[in-house]
Amino acid sequence: MSLPQFGLLRPKSIEDAVECLASHSVRIIAGGTDLIPSMRQRLFQPEYVLDLRGIAAMRGISAQPDGGVEIGALTTLRAIERSGFLRQHFVVLAEAAATVASPVLRNMGTIGGNICLDTRCLWYNQSLTWRKGCGFCIKKDGDLCHVAPGGTKCWAAFSGDTPPALLCLNAEIEIASPAGVRRVALQDFYTGLGDNYRELKPNELVTRVFLPASSADYRGVYRKLRVRGSIDYPLAGVAVAMKRSNGHVFDARIGITAVNPAPLLVKGVNELLAGTAVDEELAEAVGDLAAKTAKPLTTSALTPEYRREMIRVLTKRAVLAAAQTVEKS
Ligand SMILES: Cc1cc2nc3c(=O)[nH]c(=O)nc-3n(C[C@H](O)[C@H](O)[C@H](O)COP(=O)(O)OP(=O)(O)OC[C@H]3O[C@@H](n4cnc5c(N)ncnc54)[C@H](O)[C@@H]3O)c2cc1C
Ligand code: SF4
Repeated sequence: MSLPQFGLLRPKSIEDAVECLASHSVRIIAGGTDLIPSMRQRLFQPEYVLDLRGIAAMRGISAQPDGGVEIGALTTLRAIERSGFLRQHFVVLAEAAATVASPVLRNMGTIGGNICLDTRCLWYNQSLTWRKGCGFCIKKDGDLCHVAPGGTKCWAAFSGDTPPALLCLNAEIEIASPAGVRRVALQDFYTGLGDNYRELKPNELVTRVFLPASSADYRGVYRKLRVRGSIDYPLAGVAVAMKRSNGHVFDARIGITAVNPAPLLVKGVNELLAGTAVDEELAEAVGDLAAKTAKPLTTSALTPEYRREMIRVLTKRAVLAAAQTVEKS
């Protein structure tokens, strides 16, 4: 499949990028590992593409004096996976990044692109001819949903690996636009809709990710279900961040992905685990909570029932693994 024609804009600074966003109708490209395949499938046919890769100020991992960290949106997933600082202090993020796609794609793919990743569906991530043959759908060019016929909502699944880990770490992101700069909690960035899945206007770009000092030194585990272990998107994913004190859980957070139109924090986890020494029964109860939060539909190659069950299983395993990791340290 060929790429549609487009004009290329290559700003060298965030200010230049914001100026381009103000004056053109553009699609942002970072690593291009999701955007280029989508453009080949004619999911997007932008007049201009804004290439962020010349903006040095958007790269890098900077430890902050207070123990937090600032990560440029253009930082590659490979750099995050290999960062000694993140492995030591924000391990759940490094673990999640290490599971994205394959080494080649992690060398190109960025954290900003992973956060902004489009939602996915069997009926959407297809060629123009394929989608035309099915009469299109609500997410693009059509007015019905093949997954939930009769409904008016798109249920395409958010399938990024790092956002559930970032949610566990109370991440915030910085967004720049011609109107200025704003900082939002990542939790408020996702809408829960499969089509308009993020709170980002066409003239805005994500510039940085912040992890607070209060989330440092949680032990973390990320587990995912995929069809091909070496390269695939998650079909269910679970991130666990846990802090313990005197052998008991002090704080625990769980994020899930690929089973809803947004990555979500599971509610009620800390109420169940705080003050306890984790055991099989408790880990199973947390797995039940996570499975209740998951609402997968037939948007991918595996059945919703299986993906939901795997959220339960992966959560239990991840909670037990996180508890063991903590015991060792
Ligand atoms: C075969 C294959 C397997 C994959 N497997 C996985 C997987 O296992 N897990 C996973 O999470 N992903 C997977 N991906 C998707 C992709 O590689 C990653 O999500 C990657 O992190 C995307 O980053 P990128 O920089 O390449 O994004 P791009 O493709 O450049 O952009 C992705 C989207 O984000 C927008 N965007 C990018 N940066 C910004 C920014 N700074 N501000 C505003 N908008 C922005 C773009 O406009 C576009 O809509 C896979 C892709 C392929 C082709
Ligand atoms: S969930 Fe429905 S509307 Fe959304 S992409 Fe899939 S088929 Fe289209």
